[in-house]
Amino acid sequence: AHWGIKGTILDEKSRTPIKSAVISIKNNDHNITSSLQGEYWRILLPGIYTITVSAFGYETKTSTITVTNSDPTSATILNFTLLRSTNHTTSIEMEDYIFNKTLLPDFRTPTKYVHHNYVEMDRLLHEFHNNYSHISRLYSIGQSVEKRELYVLEISDKPGQHELGEPEFKYIANMHGNEVVGREMILLFAKLLLENYGHHEWIDWLINNTRIHLMPSMNPDGYERSRLGDCDSLNGRGNANNVDLNRNFPDQYRTYDENRRQEIETIAIMNWLRQYPFVLSANLHGGALVANYPFDGNNSTDNRDYYNGTPDDQLFRHLALTYSKVISIH
Ligand SMILES: [Zn+2]
Repeated sequence: AHWGIKGTILDEKSRTPIKSAVISIKNNDHNITSSLQGEYWRILLPGIYTITVSAFGYETKTSTITVTNSDPTSATILNFTLLRSTNHTTSIEMEDYIFNKTLLPDFRTPTKYVHHNYVEMDRLLHEFHNNYSHISRLYSIGQSVEKRELYVLEISDKPGQHELGEPEFKYIANMHGNEVVGREMILLFAKLLLENYGHHEWIDWLINNTRIHLMPSMNPDGYERSRLGDCDSLNGRGNANNVDLNRNFPDQYRTYDENRRQEIETIAIMNWLRQYPFVLSANLHGGALVANYPFDGNNSTDNRDYYNGTPDDQLFRHLALTYSKVISIH
């Protein structure tokens, strides 16, 4: 017998299937999710049921249905169409951009793909700011052990101002001084954002509605110690005191040799975090294909490997998955 309910869950406008929608039944805690094709099927005894369907980025919908099971060869059909939630409209449009390469912005002036040492990076950041001073601000959150500036390029339609309700985002790269690609990616990203403002709908939206802080190098001293072509040694990984800055922050679970005392670069970052209400951040490393998200540790004494998600685990997983998908298609 095929008793129960079944149906499809579609986007109300585009009529495309919605996968991974959660179908829940009132007073029944066993939820099911829709398939890749938006289909679901659930065995139920005869009765009256209240069914709720929810999916990421969509308005939730509830429906009441009477299941009779009078026809033993077919389940009762209950289809749903969901409207995109206005709260999520923007993020959905973002994903359309991300996954459709033809919509992505491109550089509008010639671009050199080269390494920039401290002097060159310093010059380039000033050049970016001078050329686009109406949408940028260059500031330093402090100095490294060897007195190099820890530069941040802020990109926003109102540089220097926190606008109520606008999320603040930061990127940090080159925390390990010898992991240099992220540093160049940040510089290229800054160029892409700045020169596309006023020319690309998505970039305009980002700059008008968020405040973006870009730190191309958290470890400029380590960078200067690293050597082109050296892919094996740890030379330049640490700062000028040869401390691994990635292990130097206070840890909520453990204090160990590497984080007992904070380095000047680490303290600068900690103070920075207290000054700006950042809601999302990313830190670029090199040498592995990993999208890593918090918590990167736990309080277990016998099992260091158990999964310790944050309250934002679903969001982090979504972001990490989106990131990895984009990397794999481009
Ligand atoms: Zn690293």
